[in-house]
Amino acid sequence: MLSEFDLIKRYFAQHTLHDQRVALGIGDDCALIKPTAGMQLAISSDMLVSGRHFFADADPVMLGHKCLAVNLSDLAAMGAAPLGFTLALSLPEANPGWLAGFSQGLLALADAHQCSLIGGDTTKGPLNICITIFGELPPGSALRRDTAQIGDDIWVSGTLGDARLALAGYWKEVQLEAGAHQQAALRMHRPTPRIALGIALRGIAHAALDISDGLAGDLGHILERSGVGATLHIDQLPAGEILQTQPLDLRRQFSLNGGDDYELCFTAPANNRQQVLAAAHQAGTVVSCIGQIESAHGLRLLDDHGNEVHLLFHSFDHFATP
Ligand code: ADP
Ligand code: MG
Repeated sequence: MLSEFDLIKRYFAQHTLHDQRVALGIGDDCALIKPTAGMQLAISSDMLVSGRHFFADADPVMLGHKCLAVNLSDLAAMGAAPLGFTLALSLPEANPGWLAGFSQGLLALADAHQCSLIGGDTTKGPLNICITIFGELPPGSALRRDTAQIGDDIWVSGTLGDARLALAGYWKEVQLEAGAHQQAALRMHRPTPRIALGIALRGIAHAALDISDGLAGDLGHILERSGVGATLHIDQLPAGEILQTQPLDLRRQFSLNGGDDYELCFTAPANNRQQVLAAAHQAGTVVSCIGQIESAHGLRLLDDHGNEVHLLFHSFDHFATP
């Protein structure tokens, strides 16, 4: 039988050894980290609950990746560089196969972003995974939600909607060929945090967030916090590769409202278009200009002919759905 302390030692405690910025890692009452002199700390938590955010039988390697990816995505959305993270884990049992897979997926992504696991907590209970992540950025350079300005372009990274399409496949809302479903499902299970893009957009973008609950709903947070409105060109939204093969209605609906994309939505002055494209190129990420920030409140949708399109906006709300 694996004890709590064996479990921590075997699967999680190896990770902090080689990072200069971690003065003290796993094993004491607190971890000690040394942010670069003069930098501000950026801190965020995200909790993933079995049966709510993922299926109970989810592949543990992908689950480990996703838990950290959604937290890294919050740092990306702020323009912060990763420092380290803590992991609070509630487990029904100490299953070595599951723990090996989970820690492998988690720590591979942590290594890829030089983000050390510096501590956490482990307890028995329903499967529940909570990560708190720490990043750093120069004071005054954070990409906030309340700083969009009238006349800004609205941009989005990568593509939208394939994660939602994969869910529709699982729920049998849509019939997908097995290979296509598998490819879309990778977008749902293995999101790519846009860390390099967030950092490259410092000083270029005015406002940003990451899209976890659907573009329309998440952009709504920027509009509300910044006291502005927007027009989106619905047919300019970059639909995911598999979603592009679907009928127009579904394409619009899922790229506008589909959750779990973890792309960045950001605004930048029209004068900065070349700089935005250069930043995206430097970060190795495609970006698309999809609309404009305006003074009139609310969100309007136009098709490619300039006609208004009426679609329901909704974003995922844990307390509005059963
Ligand atoms: P305490 O009783 O002081 O809270 P714990 O016994 O819970 O300490 O944890 C011992 C050490 O192991 C601490 O440094 C803690 O940060 C670390 N730790 C516990 N669980 C995890 C985990 N799931 N991942 C990483 N580190 C962990
Ligand atoms: Mg503890």
